[in-house]
Amino acid sequence: MGKSKDKEKSKKSSKSNKYVYYFGSKGADGTAEMKALLGGKGANLAEMVNLKLPVPPGFTITTEVCTYFYENNKTYPKQLEKQVEEAISKIEKEMGAKFGSADNPLLLSVRSGARASMPGMMDTILNLGLNDTTVEGLIKKSCNPRFAYDSYRRFVAMYGDVVLGLKPEGKDAIDPFEEILEEKKKQRNVKLDIELTADDLKELVYEFKSAIKRIKGVDFPEDPKEQLWGAIGAVFQSWMNERAIVYRKLNNIPEWWGTAVNVQSMVFGNLGETSGTGVAFTRDAATGENYFYGEYLMNAQGEDVVAGTRTPLPISELEKNDPKSYQELLKIREILENHYRDMLDIEFTIQEGKLWMLQCRVGKRTAMAAIKIAVDMVNEGLIKPKEALLRIEPDQLNQLLRPVFDLKEKKKALDNGLLLAKGLNAGPGAATGKVVFNAEDAVEWRNKGEKVILVRIETSPEDIAGMNAAEGILTARGGMTSHAALVARQMGKVCVAGCGALIIDYKSRTIKVDGKDIVIKEGDYISIDGSTGEVISGNIATKPSEVIEVLITKTLEPENAPVYQMYKQIMDWADKYRKLKVRTNADQPDQASNAVAFGAEGIGLCRTEHMFFGEGKIGPMREMILANTIEDRKKALSKLLPLQRNDFEGIFRAMNGRPVTIRTIDPPLHEFLPHDEKGQKEVAKELGIDAKIVKERVESLHEFNPMLGFRGCRLGLIYPEITEMQARAIFEATVNVLKEGMNVLPEIMIPLVGHVKELADQEAIVRNVANEVMKESGVKFDYLVGTMIEIPRGAITADEIASVAEFFSFGTNDLTQTTLGLSRDDSGKFLPIYVEREIYAVDPFVSIDQKGVGFLMKQAVKHGRKVRKNIKLGICGEHGGEPASVEFCHTIGLDYVSCSPFRVPIARLAAARAAIKEKLEVKKAKENKQDKTKKDKKKK
Ligand code: PEP
Ligand code: MG
Repeated sequence: MGKSKDKEKSKKSSKSNKYVYYFGSKGADGTAEMKALLGGKGANLAEMVNLKLPVPPGFTITTEVCTYFYENNKTYPKQLEKQVEEAISKIEKEMGAKFGSADNPLLLSVRSGARASMPGMMDTILNLGLNDTTVEGLIKKSCNPRFAYDSYRRFVAMYGDVVLGLKPEGKDAIDPFEEILEEKKKQRNVKLDIELTADDLKELVYEFKSAIKRIKGVDFPEDPKEQLWGAIGAVFQSWMNERAIVYRKLNNIPEWWGTAVNVQSMVFGNLGETSGTGVAFTRDAATGENYFYGEYLMNAQGEDVVAGTRTPLPISELEKNDPKSYQELLKIREILENHYRDMLDIEFTIQEGKLWMLQCRVGKRTAMAAIKIAVDMVNEGLIKPKEALLRIEPDQLNQLLRPVFDLKEKKKALDNGLLLAKGLNAGPGAATGKVVFNAEDAVEWRNKGEKVILVRIETSPEDIAGMNAAEGILTARGGMTSHAALVARQMGKVCVAGCGALIIDYKSRTIKVDGKDIVIKEGDYISIDGSTGEVISGNIATKPSEVIEVLITKTLEPENAPVYQMYKQIMDWADKYRKLKVRTNADQPDQASNAVAFGAEGIGLCRTEHMFFGEGKIGPMREMILANTIEDRKKALSKLLPLQRNDFEGIFRAMNGRPVTIRTIDPPLHEFLPHDEKGQKEVAKELGIDAKIVKERVESLHEFNPMLGFRGCRLGLIYPEITEMQARAIFEATVNVLKEGMNVLPEIMIPLVGHVKELADQEAIVRNVANEVMKESGVKFDYLVGTMIEIPRGAITADEIASVAEFFSFGTNDLTQTTLGLSRDDSGKFLPIYVEREIYAVDPFVSIDQKGVGFLMKQAVKHGRKVRKNIKLGICGEHGGEPASVEFCHTIGLDYVSCSPFRVPIARLAAARAAIKEKLEVKKAKENKQDKTKKDKKKK
């Protein structure tokens, strides 16, 4: 990091003494490429000039001056003043006016402009250069005293606020100029500013100036030059104001970038009915539709359009008002899009029928618009598929894959104060339904045709059927890899987890919200947004996803689904570029088929324990756990064997020859037994044993440190017959499906291995069973035995482990938990605060902690491959579907990532972007090297 920052820094400080970059009718000193030096606004103004678009002449003071300013006790480089004066003379010549002239004054605007857009960081100063003398010149020039005094009073107020520091600080403080203006309107008995006369406005100028003197004890500067340097200084100072510092922190903008200052000749949209001003997007920023979208007002200045005092007109109306300017704008729209090859956001002013461009920049857009614009632009030949993929953030695909809220309805609900609380955005999408508090009710209500949201303090494997029946799941506890979060994602359910403000009472079947006077009862409607974590009271309409309707529910034909077609196009492009394979985490045939429909190339994790909660399985499972003798345990296992075999056959069929990684049992066994007395009594009754026995067994299996106890391969080591049964079920299912004529590639994965001997022990059992089944059936089959790398010792001794394991799959949920010593189920209580305080930039259970966990992964890859060159490497923790983590997995050379079915498309896109970025970086490094060689040759 440090190194590249220094490199960039030196690139910025060219050591040239050119601090001012001019732009005018004869061309510009800068280009769009020079954002580091000229800021975004300055670079784009220069570029528009280079494109021969009508831009009022002006100049940009570089970001280097900002850096100098702070490094040199708030002073300027000595050449600056002269360069500014020269640039002003050029503007004067072009505009045929003079800065400070009593007859024909040139007025200027002064604006900040950092490399990245920082909206609201600094106010603009307009009409600079006005004083009691020059205002007369403006009256003469415009023949419009009202306009002149209106401009003057606006300038004095802006200058007072921004440069002289009168802008109110607190939320409730009142701007002194606003106060005076309101008083004036009251005196004159008018409502709107435009109803004030020239004389009223003239009086305001003097009242504003006296306020400055009264509050700040200084005179308003009459000298235009002093005004200009005051404004320039204020822009540089604004780089360090509280707002800017906070904004930079939030958006990762380094302080050393600095801001540029843009000084430009004023043009006026408020010179009468043939003048106006507006803002526009070259395409619709909300939907991405390819039409010119914007608003304007005649006889107005920029701030009137955004202030909301007058309602702006849609840009299409301009065709009637000023057809010439409208046609010119359409042409400019085309020129800009062809040049920038992107959707742009523009600002323009019409002064007495002449159109001027004041700004252009790449426009902000919604996820849906980003996707549509990227795909459309490829089809229009503006960009290449590779570029389109780089423009779509993988998570934006959720917009295509999930149900979404009707945006208007959601906004209305939020405006009406119906937001109850915010939790973790654990399973994206929108869901609405009636509140139920347990899994049984969820199933029952669903069967009656109700849509429900299952609300739990936290979920456990017993809730799976209820989760499946619900539209969405809401929990008060648990982090991003809690049971609720990962199971919901696997099912494709909307989920908000760890919503700590909710006080859920199962007894009274109510939810209260901390700090709010509201009670939600069973059967009340709530809506949850799994993309933002919002929990909203009431029933908000949702729209289904076309992609799901085509691929999963098969209720829509692809040719009638334009959104699906867009999705397909993106996926086809992504598959062309990606190197990583994408598998899925699935343990039910329907999940497996969904994942295949989304493009999964195999199963990377089948959690067999999830299967034990299916129909008829929990009984024999509990019998097995509660058995006192090995014979009893084997008896119970023999009941489970055909059920498990059946499960695996279903999965193998759904995967149709694709590899399937199946993990032997992993969670602590007490998770399969009820923890409450009532439940324990019921189990005892079912099995015909004493309830005390059940209670004792639950206590003996209890872990003091959850997830560090009797679980993972430790279970198979102590009870080898469990591994034996599972291996047998897998291999017998393999034989059966092979016999049906379908290929099967099972990969048996041993969890939580920290020592090679643990793995060797389990491997021997698995291979033994494989040989037995081959002998018994007379069918030969291929299979692999490998392990999860999910505790640090496993990663550190990867070379030893690779001598046994044919594959590694990084279980980054546990690897994060164990490396950071941070419980994944308890982290919800404090991790959000860690992230807020930037101790971790992102939740490490969401995105791989590359420095810590990532380090161990890299070591394991290196040492694993050293011992076994062709070892298969993958990841199956929840990070396998998170874009930044997928990119990391590409960089460290894994073969595949595995994620929940609905994240498969996201992982495909993330993998493609990683490969494209890598290629671009290699290309850039090569070019840099060639440049350096050329330079070195020249020197010689
Ligand atoms: C893991 O630890 O990353 C993993 C995939 O296993 P589980 O989440 O089931 O513990
Ligand atoms: Mg694990």
